[in-house]
Amino acid sequence: MKDTFKHKGLRQQLVDGIESKGIKDKNVLKAIGKVPRHLFMDSGFLDHSYQDKAFPIAADQTISQPFTVAYQTELLQVKKGDKVLEIGTGSGYQAAILCELGAKVYSIERQLELFKRTSKFLPKLGYGVKKFIFGDGYKGLEEEAPFDSIVVTAGAPFVPKPLLSQLKIGGRLVIPVGDNVQTMTLLIRKDIKEFEKHEFDKFRFVPLLEDKN
Ligand code: SAH
Repeated sequence: MKDTFKHKGLRQQLVDGIESKGIKDKNVLKAIGKVPRHLFMDSGFLDHSYQDKAFPIAADQTISQPFTVAYQTELLQVKKGDKVLEIGTGSGYQAAILCELGAKVYSIERQLELFKRTSKFLPKLGYGVKKFIFGDGYKGLEEEAPFDSIVVTAGAPFVPKPLLSQLKIGGRLVIPVGDNVQTMTLLIRKDIKEFEKHEFDKFRFVPLLEDKN
């Protein structure tokens, strides 16, 4: 598990590219510059790991495009010590970025293979995720609620109600909503029943699935 000068150089180019695409938050850019993305991908993809593209990982899933991770993370406005719930652990790349920002991260994955792999792998890299959960992200994580923010890293056909009810007042839910194409959506909890909705650019995510396989 090496992180060489070459990797660091490629990573800086990636950061510059993401910045030129419109990401402004310096802390988010710094986090992208720190996380060794090449270690999150199968070795066959090493040469591609610092291109701003999504790539296949195990179990027919993908590691999100770095720009997309930066985009969602910027919308979350993570502060040090925030309690953040991630839906869709996948490779663990987004979780690592959240850890770099000083968040207390809880992450749910519905595929056993990815859950097992990533919950072993991230601690090895020194990322202290608070809890990995093997389960259904549509339900959120009631026993650890409320959260400062929640990020959904798969395309959701609708906004699951439990995720809204597990936000703190002032908390933020960032979720790509739609079937084939998703609209990045930010919901801010203003009061017990009041949510402010903002819609942003279109993205394509793998689907947030309802049934376990
Ligand atoms: N955050 C990941 C992106 C992974 S892609 C990363 O940084 O690499 C989306 C992930 O969501 C996949 O791993 C998929 O298995 C998972 N997923 C899909 N439906 C889910 C559900 N209902 N609950 C939890 N995870 C789900």
